[in-house]
Amino acid sequence: MKQNTLTAPQVPSAATDQLIPITVAHGDGIGPEITSAVLRVLDAADAPLRHNVINIGKAAYERGVTSGISPDAWKAIRETKVVLKGPITTPQGGGYKSLNVTLRKALSLFANVRPVKAYAPFIDSHHPGMNVVVIRENEEDLYAGIEHQQTREVAQILKLVTRPGSERIIRYAFEYARAYGRRKVTCMTKDNIMKHTDGLFHRVFNEVANEYPDIESDHSIIDIGAARVAAQPEQFDVIVTLNLYGDILSDITAQIAGSVGLAGSANIGTDVAMFEAVHGSAPDIAGRGIANPSGLLVAATQMLVHLGVADVAQTIKNAWLKTLEDGVHTADIYREGRSEHKVGTEAFTDAVIERLGAEPSTLTPVRYQSGGIDIELSPTPQQEKALQGIDVFIDWDGAGRDPDVIGEGLEEAAKAVNWRLKMITNRGVKVYPRGLPETFWTDHWRCRFLPADADVTSFDRVLDLLGALHGQGWDVIKTEHLYTFDGRRAYSLGQGE
Ligand code: NAD
Repeated sequence: MKQNTLTAPQVPSAATDQLIPITVAHGDGIGPEITSAVLRVLDAADAPLRHNVINIGKAAYERGVTSGISPDAWKAIRETKVVLKGPITTPQGGGYKSLNVTLRKALSLFANVRPVKAYAPFIDSHHPGMNVVVIRENEEDLYAGIEHQQTREVAQILKLVTRPGSERIIRYAFEYARAYGRRKVTCMTKDNIMKHTDGLFHRVFNEVANEYPDIESDHSIIDIGAARVAAQPEQFDVIVTLNLYGDILSDITAQIAGSVGLAGSANIGTDVAMFEAVHGSAPDIAGRGIANPSGLLVAATQMLVHLGVADVAQTIKNAWLKTLEDGVHTADIYREGRSEHKVGTEAFTDAVIERLGAEPSTLTPVRYQSGGIDIELSPTPQQEKALQGIDVFIDWDGAGRDPDVIGEGLEEAAKAVNWRLKMITNRGVKVYPRGLPETFWTDHWRCRFLPADADVTSFDRVLDLLGALHGQGWDVIKTEHLYTFDGRRAYSLGQGE
């Protein structure tokens, strides 16, 4: 099933002498300088690539394209499926959209991959042994953007976690670990609290981990996990996590490494993948020939591994490490006494090219596996789904918000259509029957109803119940069905239920 596979474009055979087409966007600010530098290294290393150049960002915005990307550029990206992108300046105000968000959403780039490494003693770092990759799910979780306010006091958001979405990112993390010779994948969730959403992600992680006996795996609750990442990042290798946690965690790792200017990042989709530096377009130094091309160069090595050209990626990355080690540094990383030569973009690029084939001796040389990263999802298992009852959410601000008043009123309305009120919660805490006097009550009541005469029920009977509640004047604002899947309860219990 095409939807469920991710197959990297294949490496051309030497016999056909074909080159892999990629799309290159030079970007804004320092983008053109660092992109040209990176292309020069790729050419010198004989990377089997053919560049298709597009103009996106400032030039497109100035032509009135508010998304920053023209139809022709879209076409090129869809044809080559791989984009090496220089940083883009997002114009302030004027209704312009962030090009990165547009690309991520439109191309369904499900994984954000951000490796962060310390290069001590050549670059200062508080965590010299740090070498962490955060692989963040990029489309689901709280970022689906489904929010509502339904009472005067309460707003809510829908947190969506799917089995295929979880499996895709988790498989990607294990495949990534294999391709990059990494030893461990750590999953981070908050499934002690969110048992059904984060619990699904953790369960899928355990299932997938069993298929990769060569890679160590473990799980950490996100709060203590994030604290440990901040305090002892050297204990972590690859981290895979949900969207919100990954957003926060990837910024923490970038911040503490001391080398954010040297970091690349990848956004991976089922069809298209995009590789870029973590830093922005640095307009303050644009055109001066002093920008450090390292972030984009590292991103380009990620692109080569993705394309299955791991040997060239390895050669370039090791030459770059050797350059850092030899003290050839651009101004942003140059330190008197520790660096040897202060160089501009071009001289730094020449230094990397001169070292192609060499390896660092203090820093650890990288070893990448050929073959690219391919993912095939397993079919979602068949399961017996049964409707057991319904949670009806009611906006109510009467009778001093006394839970007994709403409880008794709803019980009476339900009885008439053969339903029973199991309980009412307010912000998840049971308030009826027999709540605690200390509980704070808002105007948002979650009322759990079960059929009075059976274990399972039907949607027709739910409609009877809703009709009866509406008929009695209750302000129903939303409902959630209570299902079992293969007999397993698939909804949370109320606190104290
Ligand atoms: P920035 O990363 O561009 O610059 C921050 C500081 O780091 C500046 O002092 C800059 O000179 C320096 N710097 C950054 N990259 C460098 C390099 N390669 N070599 C040497 N020094 C470097 O962040 P900013 O100033 O907040 O953003 C500038 C623009 O970039 C904004 O329009 C922002 O929206 C955009 N931006 C784009 C991306 C992207 O395209 N992925 C990412 C972040 C920011």
